Amino acid sequence: MKRFLRAGLMAAMLLLLGGCALAGPALQKKTGTAMGTVVQLCVYTTSPKEDVTESLFGQVRSLEEDLLSRRIEGSQVWAVNALAGSGTRAELTGRLGEIVSFGLQLGQDSGGAFDIALGPLVELWDIDSWAQGDNTGVFALPSREDVAEALAHCGSGQVEFQAASGGNPPRILLERGAALDLGAVGKGAALDELLAALEADISVTGAVLSLGGSVLTYGEKPDGTPWRVGVADPRNPSESLGTLALEGQWCVSTSGDYERYVEADGVRYHHILDPATGYPADSGLSSVTVVCRDGLASDGLSTACFVLGREKGWKLAEAYGAEALFVEKDGTIAMTPGMEALFERASSQ
Ligand code: AMP
Ligand code: MG
Repeated sequence: MKRFLRAGLMAAMLLLLGGCALAGPALQKKTGTAMGTVVQLCVYTTSPKEDVTESLFGQVRSLEEDLLSRRIEGSQVWAVNALAGSGTRAELTGRLGEIVSFGLQLGQDSGGAFDIALGPLVELWDIDSWAQGDNTGVFALPSREDVAEALAHCGSGQVEFQAASGGNPPRILLERGAALDLGAVGKGAALDELLAALEADISVTGAVLSLGGSVLTYGEKPDGTPWRVGVADPRNPSESLGTLALEGQWCVSTSGDYERYVEADGVRYHHILDPATGYPADSGLSSVTVVCRDGLASDGLSTACFVLGREKGWKLAEAYGAEALFVEKDGTIAMTPGMEALFERASSQ
């Protein structure tokens, strides 16, 4: 009887194990909006619990609300900006110190083309709101005087940053009228945080997480094929120029003049501004896609490279060990050798 019971138990266990092996990881999906963009989360998990994508989505929302948003009252960036000119140093918590420090370094490495202290100019143009339909009325081009006035309050010269040291948190002080805007690195920073969450969850076997123009691939697809991330055609964004075939963990970010823009008198005014002119960047490019391991770097670099243009952008991407694909306004595609190995052109191209 005992032996019979043991044999039965073993058979049941084998059935269970066999069942797990056969079922494989299940796909969980979630789509929503956060950070002013569409968030699409696809996670393969062996865990029966339903909330992996829910909790990842919650993380993006809290990163936006607690830390990074310039607009949401009470976020850390909002508080830093509110203290501008007061002489009071704001303490940065969480990953904000690292994000600001990376942004300032990229600003330096790009000769000022990338600027996390571009808040006054971003606010003046307010392209994001116009593009999202948040503003009523008719878009009016800001005057040259207003652009010059906003620019006078932008740039790293407006920021005094103290890195963490001796147990003290990082601190920041802004000049009067200055403001941080982390729109160019926020989605990448979020991807880094989501990556840490995926790595900490042993039930996750693979994932592809997309936050607007920034995408993280992680682990494996159950069928063993590479992840495929499309590169949009800037002149017809619902079509793709080709796809990137990626094995394992990568971050892909695209910055383009088609993502957020407003048109007035036949001219397109997009959301990536050139700190050298105060106007939407006009470097001959319509998009840049950057691939590297790190979300902060891929997101920051795609914006910086877009402002710099192909030649200087290429050198900057190389200096960061990243791969880049440039689409010129006339549709010409150029890419670094490492990108050639990842990119497959669409058959229509
Ligand atoms: P992305 O879509 O990642 O290229 O970032 C664009 C966003 O970054 C804009 O919506 C602004 O909030 C901000 N931004 C615009 N121009 C710059 C710039 N030159 N340097 C840093 N941030 C910028
Ligand atoms: Mg960016």
